[in-house]
Amino acid sequence: MTAPRRAPGPVVIENCAIATMDGRQHDDSGAEHRSGHIVVSDGRITAVGEGPAPVSATDGARRVDGTGCLATPGLINTHHHLYQWLTQGRAQRSVLFDWLTELYPVWARIDPAQVHAAATAGLGWLALSGCSTSTDHHYIFPPGKQGILEAEIAAATAVGLRFHPCRGSMDLGRSAGGLPPDEIVEDPDDALAATAEAVRRFHDPSPGAMVRVAVAPCSPFSVSSRLMRETAKLARELGVRMHTHLAETREEDMYCRQTLGRTPAEYADELGWLGEDVWLAHCVHLDEPAVKRFAVTGTSVAHCPTSNARLGAGIAPVRQLLRAGATVGLGVDGAASSEGTALAGELHQALLAARVRDEHGPAALTARQALWIGTRGGATCLGRADEIGALRPGMLADIALWRVDTLAHDAIAHGPDGDPVAALVFGPPAPLELLLVGGTPVVERGELRTADMTAAARDVRAARLRLEAGR
Ligand SMILES: [Zn+2]
Repeated sequence: MTAPRRAPGPVVIENCAIATMDGRQHDDSGAEHRSGHIVVSDGRITAVGEGPAPVSATDGARRVDGTGCLATPGLINTHHHLYQWLTQGRAQRSVLFDWLTELYPVWARIDPAQVHAAATAGLGWLALSGCSTSTDHHYIFPPGKQGILEAEIAAATAVGLRFHPCRGSMDLGRSAGGLPPDEIVEDPDDALAATAEAVRRFHDPSPGAMVRVAVAPCSPFSVSSRLMRETAKLARELGVRMHTHLAETREEDMYCRQTLGRTPAEYADELGWLGEDVWLAHCVHLDEPAVKRFAVTGTSVAHCPTSNARLGAGIAPVRQLLRAGATVGLGVDGAASSEGTALAGELHQALLAARVRDEHGPAALTARQALWIGTRGGATCLGRADEIGALRPGMLADIALWRVDTLAHDAIAHGPDGDPVAALVFGPPAPLELLLVGGTPVVERGELRTADMTAAARDVRAARLRLEAGR
């Protein structure tokens, strides 16, 4: 368990536009204020509204003048592989299976110190793009190297983000018909025991938790059906959430049809891997029955548009999922397949990808729907929609304050059709004035306050060189 944090002092943010994202669903983004206030006390929001804050709320509080800014809930990243910061820019012309085949042998050498350096850089980078909560899906556990999950939790604690590490696993090596080399797969019983141990040591079910653990076998082509089934059983016994990759590429779809006789979604359903406690990364290749089944079972999707485009995997049917009533969140995915890994950019990418995908064109996704999936949708993926992803009294004070009065944003935010949310989503990434996580400032005026990014850049470079040299 991580050490409890000191309660931050009260904060009042005023004179900013506010998008609360407090509506009921993706097409009702909730109350917005042209020039409003947010009051924060003991790490939670106590008031949100139009005009200045009530005088009684401002006594002894830090005052933040949000003139020219837009306040939104902190963004929520629902899919990542932080260690991949160390292997960016490789296999640039490869589809997923070839890309994995090239990278597995490099990843097989990874150690906890390298994971710590990559996680510090990656989470710092995410914070600078307005992300207040991130997951990480780690599934590489080389034999004999202890402390990998601890290393990334320590990095998240130092950076100050809310963190949902997902204990991954792979047990289907090449000799058993899987894709990964045999030397980086685990014995399934060892993987299950280590997953249970990770939950026991690090999962904090209490309100306002900074660390919650999920279970996350890697994918249908690297995990046996037995390990998938038993991990689901374990998660439901322990009361934690379940995450995996699904239906990412055509090749995976073909692999499932040929070796398992069913689509990836049918396979997941049969294994007990659809449900309200499950969120699945990618889901690019879903047919209509699968979309309906996701909606009926309450299964959520982590949409990663940049990674899917980078690997030429296709574009997830986000509009169809939302219209059917399924939940969609946003993810940056690992930096080896999504070198930007800035979450604010994914709002923009999701908007464009949805509009490119089908005949609905510009009606496929609105700026507010994109922001909804980056906030409320993500909170729902992680089972925390009652605590994060919206700005209303009682919610945790995870707040991003964006500058939308820059050269590139001002006309969109404050012109004749003045729309600060459109400035954030249609425009280039907006500078981040302030990021609060549980009321604690993590970013101020575009700078990380919790960790030294210069040192993080130096450390991650050294870790990369060490990994490349195999030391
Ligand atoms: Zn992934």
